[in-house]
Amino acid sequence: MENRWSETEAAEFIKLYGNEWGEELALRTYSSRLLGGDPELVLYGGGNTSVKGVFESVLGDKIAAVWVKGSGHDLAGIGPEGFSPLDLDYLRRLRELEELSDEAMMDQFLTHLLDSRAARPSIETLMHAFLPHKFIDHTHADSILALTNRDDGAELVRKALGNDVIVVDYVRPGFQLAQAAADAFEASPEAPGMVLMKHGLVTWGGTAREAYEGTIDLVAKAESYLRTKAGSGVKTTKVTSVETARERYRIAGPIIRGALALSRGSGDDDNPWDRFILRSLINHETLDLVDSSNGKKLALTPPLTADHLVRTKALPLWIDEPAYEDPDKFREQVTAAVEQYSRDYDAYFDRNSSGLEPGVVRFDSRPRVIFLPGLGGICAGVDIGAAELARNITARTASIKLKSSGLGEYEGLDEEHLFDMEYFGLQHLKLSRAQPPALTGSVALVTGAAGAIGSGICRELLESGCLVAATDLPGDTLDSFNSELRSEFGGRAVAVPLDVTDPESVGRGFDAVIEAWGGIDLVVVNAGAAHVSKLTEMDPDDFSRLERVNVEGTLNVLTASGRHFRHQGTGGDIVLISTKNVFSPGAGFGAYSATKAAGHQLGRIASLELAGIDVRVNMVSPDAIFGEGKHKSGLWAEVGPDRMKARGLDQAGLEEYYRNRNLLKTRITTRHVARAVLFFATRQTPTTGATIPVDGGWPDSTPR
Ligand code: ZN
Repeated sequence: MENRWSETEAAEFIKLYGNEWGEELALRTYSSRLLGGDPELVLYGGGNTSVKGVFESVLGDKIAAVWVKGSGHDLAGIGPEGFSPLDLDYLRRLRELEELSDEAMMDQFLTHLLDSRAARPSIETLMHAFLPHKFIDHTHADSILALTNRDDGAELVRKALGNDVIVVDYVRPGFQLAQAAADAFEASPEAPGMVLMKHGLVTWGGTAREAYEGTIDLVAKAESYLRTKAGSGVKTTKVTSVETARERYRIAGPIIRGALALSRGSGDDDNPWDRFILRSLINHETLDLVDSSNGKKLALTPPLTADHLVRTKALPLWIDEPAYEDPDKFREQVTAAVEQYSRDYDAYFDRNSSGLEPGVVRFDSRPRVIFLPGLGGICAGVDIGAAELARNITARTASIKLKSSGLGEYEGLDEEHLFDMEYFGLQHLKLSRAQPPALTGSVALVTGAAGAIGSGICRELLESGCLVAATDLPGDTLDSFNSELRSEFGGRAVAVPLDVTDPESVGRGFDAVIEAWGGIDLVVVNAGAAHVSKLTEMDPDDFSRLERVNVEGTLNVLTASGRHFRHQGTGGDIVLISTKNVFSPGAGFGAYSATKAAGHQLGRIASLELAGIDVRVNMVSPDAIFGEGKHKSGLWAEVGPDRMKARGLDQAGLEEYYRNRNLLKTRITTRHVARAVLFFATRQTPTTGATIPVDGGWPDSTPR
């Protein structure tokens, strides 16, 4: 454990924040970031820190205050405003009480904040208030938990960290823990720090540096003890290679995703699937765990810390002897295992729920972490953030359980305490949020995504909560679109090179999306090519080129989509971007109109063939789209100049011409096309095989 304190960096924080917030809060910010930046100390948003000082009111009154990390702030990136100031003297008086429920305690915090804009203070605020030191650091460090989570944990802690460290038995975080910690400290006021069994570490000091170095010192001692005494107690005979595990995941991922969605329907016939996003955990360490003789026993132990228990659930699901070679059998195994897990979870809820506060409802009973021998781990969440968090926690948990398995039997929190941490009212507050966007939990693959219409569709889907794989031919256009999406939507968008004319490339593209998110729910068949030529002047090569993209390309994507949807087993949607020309062809557009008509017809056939597995296939037929901003329409790059020449118009004149020829005298934008896609994707009506014209109104191109 490296001591990363730097006086130069500390001075920079004082320079940055000292004037506005004071030197102490500036240094509190600095050392909190040091702690938060190390995942071995603080697990993703966990841990909390505080500083005590004087708050000056508008009347000039000087009030003793404690600034405690507010919820929703992550130590790794916290600023001074992330610490909520509270009336310290009042909080300390709460120690006189015999008991205080979580709700009543939070009420006291909120009514004794000194800044109405401050975030809700941490559940562990009273521990910070009751301990006397100026700076308090509290972490859930891995190596400390590796020692505490044993039946002889207290003894191990003393052996590793020395006898002068305070050891506090597990007490639920909140009022009880604050009392226990304060009592224990008063009995040993010279102690360098405090270990909370099956929970974490508390250190302190008169300065930020002292408290931080206290943490580093004790964690370093724990690490060195683990290195010399622990070793791995896991026996691994044969370990699957990462490549084989990945190959298996491409088949297994969608089946598992389907089984998780299936196990609890949403009760709405148009939207029956309640889907999860998956993140796979395939690395040497996880494979070591799942392939070892005692891996199952170790994996099925409770988590290291109750941090984020709501994200991972107390226990993972383990699939015995997965039949990777026989997908149908594998599906049966997974479905049965998920159902059993749900029954067990419901029983666990019923056993423990009698003392729940009114209004606290049961979480869904599906597993969030699944371990499979020969594959690794699969983590699930309602959106990419939840899935990624579950994955990161699972990775660290597996690693530390493995590394310390040589110390003897692992022992996590018991069921009653796990339930308590999963269900106590404040955890629910953490998760409660506004209604998520309509396509949250869904994954879309869009072909021809880097063009005008494709990019508009990607954007609309992303804004509706969907994860989007933007596919197009490899090259600069796709790369630059990728950086644009990344900067705006982060990990919710991914660019995948895909050539629709090559079935193998299409297969690889689908696989890449499955590897990223576990499956696909919506495919937008948008890639197309255009060419202007009268039939009498047609070069057969040009016609063939359009046929390859507009007909074979459509076929390849429909084939791959249908196969994937059948395999995943949770229906799906396909939206095909057709054209007004299918219904109302134009002279000089023979190759385009005929090949697009063939593609359109394939879409209608797909709607017939795939309805039985709840896959809906619909078409959107726009009139000319010129493109906006830097996303030019490929079609119009090809067709526009010729049209302009033929009609003696410039670009603006041509746009005006197109606007005036429809009934509504309106300009058609990519946004309009994207909204039509969204209409189908959100399944507003029980519709398949249908076409929405997006053309401002053309009597002769209205599908009949
Ligand atoms: Zn804690």
